[in-house]
Amino acid sequence: MSNESLANLLKEERRFEPPADLAAAANVTAEAYEQAKADRLGFWAEQARQLTWATEPTQTLDWSNPPFAKWFADGKLNVAYNCVDRHVEAGHGDRVAIHFEGEPADDTRTITYAELQREVSKAANALTELGVRAGDRVAIYLPMIPEAVFAMLACARIGAPHSVVFGGFSADALAARIEDADARVVITSDGGYRRGKPSALKPAVDEALTRPGTENVRNVLVVRRTGEDTAWTEGRDVWWHELVDGQSDRHTPEAFDAEHPLFILYTSGTTGKPKGILHTTGGYLTQTAYTHRAVFDLKPETDVYWCTADVGWVTGHSYIVYGPLANGATEVLYEGTPDTPHQGRWWEIVQKYGVTLLYTAPTAIRACMKWGDDIPAKFDLSSLRVLGSVGEPINPEAWIWYRKNIGGDRTPIVDTWWQTETGAIMVSPLPGVTATKPGSAQIPLPGISATVVDDEAKEVGNGGGGYLVVTEPWPSMLRTIWGDDQRYLDTYWSRFENRYFAGDGAKKDTDGDIWLLGRVDDVMLVSGHNISTTEVESALVSHPKVAEAAVVGATDPQTTQSIVAFVILRGNVDAEAEGEALVTELRNHVAKHLGPIAKPKRILPVAELPKTRSGKIMRRLLRDVAENRALGDVTTLTDSSVMELIQSKLPGAS
Ligand code: ATP
Ligand code: MG
Repeated sequence: MSNESLANLLKEERRFEPPADLAAAANVTAEAYEQAKADRLGFWAEQARQLTWATEPTQTLDWSNPPFAKWFADGKLNVAYNCVDRHVEAGHGDRVAIHFEGEPADDTRTITYAELQREVSKAANALTELGVRAGDRVAIYLPMIPEAVFAMLACARIGAPHSVVFGGFSADALAARIEDADARVVITSDGGYRRGKPSALKPAVDEALTRPGTENVRNVLVVRRTGEDTAWTEGRDVWWHELVDGQSDRHTPEAFDAEHPLFILYTSGTTGKPKGILHTTGGYLTQTAYTHRAVFDLKPETDVYWCTADVGWVTGHSYIVYGPLANGATEVLYEGTPDTPHQGRWWEIVQKYGVTLLYTAPTAIRACMKWGDDIPAKFDLSSLRVLGSVGEPINPEAWIWYRKNIGGDRTPIVDTWWQTETGAIMVSPLPGVTATKPGSAQIPLPGISATVVDDEAKEVGNGGGGYLVVTEPWPSMLRTIWGDDQRYLDTYWSRFENRYFAGDGAKKDTDGDIWLLGRVDDVMLVSGHNISTTEVESALVSHPKVAEAAVVGATDPQTTQSIVAFVILRGNVDAEAEGEALVTELRNHVAKHLGPIAKPKRILPVAELPKTRSGKIMRRLLRDVAENRALGDVTTLTDSSVMELIQSKLPGAS
């Protein structure tokens, strides 16, 4: 961004009060903000006491060597014990932990907490037999099957930091992550089910392990999921069912220091080379458990929670595995895609299990908007009581669509801002407290200090735009970038003194609510004005014919940059028939909503947008296209043919 602050273009006046019954029984009330403000560290110490510690911590935060934080440093605990055993010991062994729904419709499995304890214990014993010791790194490359959860918890149980690599990544991406973390064991499967067919995984592991830098991998533990033929390296490869199933289902968890490494997770790579984010034990579990209880208002006896993320990214770590299980939740785990075998699959799952709390991403909501309102309307979604969103800014129209078509115009929506680096939710409404605003993540959670500052680090207000920063350390913060303290300092702590720089643009409205405006790297500079990608995209999505939009700034001799928009039209709109008239209509629509400065110079209807496997739009690739450049790193892209399709649409593109 230049020295101009971000323009404030979008106005949104709609408000939604929390439902009275939810507010009356909410886990967290407005008082929590006051309490945390009066004594922030005391507040977090109290949240930490909700966990079961082998040695209770007496210290809360050690910030003597900033920005290298230690939380609850003299405490000891075992994460797997907290997520599993303690619920069994409290008499909840028969409670369902996981309703597993495979992609093939009749392929389901119900796992109680007692069973989870046995499965995790066996897996922990198996890893120990393979020689895995506390501190050794284990790479996990699995589909969304229960063994992914067992494997993560087994690693946590024996103190072996895991590095989960998304099952859709290529052999190269996997090899780079194995090498960076210096993993000793890889846990994978023969494959998984994807769009109605078995899809192999093990070949990518075999290929990755031929790459230099992966030599320290001693064993590959392979879950049999599809039963398809799989190449086998004797002495290295071990079947899960042969090694794990025969182990004792008892295992005594060892307590680890609160700062013992829990996992390394590589960021989703939206902007460039992924970073190996290191999270540790006590603070991470404290904040994931607290935020899950607070933001989703989880009632473990009655709620059925479902987070649609993949365990391969941070939302899966914090809000499928650690947060919900630490809270004793009953949750759904679904293997497949939302449109297999039909575009109502998700809503069928909500109806089947009576899901009450749903957590998903704007990309999925926009896809459902594109498919049409009639699809969710066929299912009974009346069990839902809180809806969550994460991953990108949610366009106000997508927010309204979500509330109306999924939430029956009844459920609060919690738009949760956070990152791999923050470990847990940081900025979000509370469902029983906050009057929500479509498109705004609103306010930092109790105990979190975050704000928006301008170039000179001065706080902005009244619609002023700038950079989102976190101003005080928080329990689940990243501790460093694995093996690269300098990159940790440079990336997050050098832009502003004593403030964590998140890399996201934001503004604050007159009520003090925070609006995320997209990544700082993506902000466009048009005739001296900094314009947010999010605001222009939201204006486009507010047009009834548009389901999704991505905008970028392309170099322009007159205006520094000009706005180029790529739009996906709603299912019932025929792009060919609409032709240039629609493009003109959309350009005028944006001008009307945001002002002439934000009017896109070019608008291109496309069938797909380039996205990371976690569903985020990769604008830098679109910028490459708009500027007729060779594409940058595409290794984290879902489907590279999307780029060819888009390039072929551009006049003059190579
Ligand atoms: P990389 O850092 O490698 O480019 P990434 O930032 O996509 O990858 P994640 O940690 O998965 O990796 O994503 C965090 C980012 O997602 C945030 O910095 C922000 O840009 C965006 N984001 C997440 N939740 C929200 C939200 N509720 N509103 C707006 N943006 C969000
Ligand atoms: Mg990031």
